[in-house]
Amino acid sequence: MDKQQEFVLRTVEERDIRFIRLWFTDVLGMLKSVAIAPAELEQAFAEGIGFDGSSIEGLTRVYEADMIARPDPSTFAILPWRGERNGTARMFCDLLNPDGSHSLADSRYVLKRALARAADKGFTFYTHPEVEFYLFKPPVPGQPLEPVDQAGYFDHVARGSAHDFRRAAIQMLESMGISVEFSHHEAGPGQNEIDLRYADALTTADNLMTFRTVIKEVALSQGVFASFMPKPMAEHPGSGMHTHLSLFEGDRNAFHEPGAELDLSKTGRSFIAGLLHHAAEITAVTNQYVNSYKRLWGGAEAPSYICWGHNNRSSLVRVPMYKPGKGNSSRVEYRALDAAANPYLAFALMLSAGLKGIEEGYELPEGSEDDVWELTDAERRAMGIKPLPQSLDAAIELMESSELVAETLGEHVFNFVLRNKRQEWDAYRSQVTPFELQRFLPVL
Ligand code: GLU
Ligand code: MG
Ligand code: MG
Repeated sequence: MDKQQEFVLRTVEERDIRFIRLWFTDVLGMLKSVAIAPAELEQAFAEGIGFDGSSIEGLTRVYEADMIARPDPSTFAILPWRGERNGTARMFCDLLNPDGSHSLADSRYVLKRALARAADKGFTFYTHPEVEFYLFKPPVPGQPLEPVDQAGYFDHVARGSAHDFRRAAIQMLESMGISVEFSHHEAGPGQNEIDLRYADALTTADNLMTFRTVIKEVALSQGVFASFMPKPMAEHPGSGMHTHLSLFEGDRNAFHEPGAELDLSKTGRSFIAGLLHHAAEITAVTNQYVNSYKRLWGGAEAPSYICWGHNNRSSLVRVPMYKPGKGNSSRVEYRALDAAANPYLAFALMLSAGLKGIEEGYELPEGSEDDVWELTDAERRAMGIKPLPQSLDAAIELMESSELVAETLGEHVFNFVLRNKRQEWDAYRSQVTPFELQRFLPVL
């Protein structure tokens, strides 16, 4: 037994923990959990806990249903919303096959493989997500959604429920070791944003899984309802998850080069070029639901076109303001991602796209400081600015022929995502919507 495992066993005993939840993520990014008693912990560390993977999205084929979840002791945390006495803790798990090999259906392993490829080149990958979400009064089926307030961007709402909410959520996150950098009211009524401090991408992805759960828990405890749905209301901004990306070589930020344009190194420029080059084919994963495309094409500062800029909020990739003397803060912001994505798969793909740009030495096209939504199609074409896919259907088609996505996800996950998303698209396109009835029934 190693030191971390011993630490977990000791803490469970000292803190009177009665349940240990083993957490893992299905291929769509949904959190799964199985609770074990403290007496099972030693065996869980040694051999893992067996479960039937066949009823979990994307994990196994029916004829090879047995799977093993082995907890990662470095992710041990006590769940604050379960109370101090008879407490509950959680650990994220690696998923294994019965023979002990890594399951190729494990999203966490997809990201670990991508990080290992980056490490071979001497890079560590850091991410910093800005997570947006809405708070609603408890929804009543058939009734329009009712946001908890009517405030807007950075508004300070006197006695606002959003303040209390963010305070409680941030305290809970911090008590679980998840550092929060900023939080504020976002542009939509009831819309909030919480930005996590940057950390290595595996930690951030784990943190996002916890984050979504904490936000839902705190909302329930305050009698409101939280949603990360990318575009819950047509007339208000969607919820994105802009993510800041950087590569480090040891202690040195590999994107930083004093004196270069925007102080951005050649590595940084090629990384952005890779993101742009592969953006369209990774979108079925970074924006995985039919609803995600309502956000991408719904205006309100969500990106629709593939371009980059310095301080241009209409671009897909933004190089944020550089703080002189803070070379290690050099980074690029990818603005398409939404918080309903599977963070492990999305981070693995953004990293692979950027690395490909570095390996192949892609040239970075000229940045655009125009508001790209204001340009005409012809102007955008002349500038070489292409659109992101406009629907899940279009995104699936681009993903299908992507070598980069197939290689990064591995055959099992690649095929599962395509199959699952096709089904979602088919179910969606066969609907007759209120829009159609309202528009066509009276006149046709
Ligand atoms: N809510 C916008 C989006 O969907 C982003 C607003 C912002 O710039 O923070 O991406
Ligand atoms: Mg925002
Ligand atoms: Mg942003």
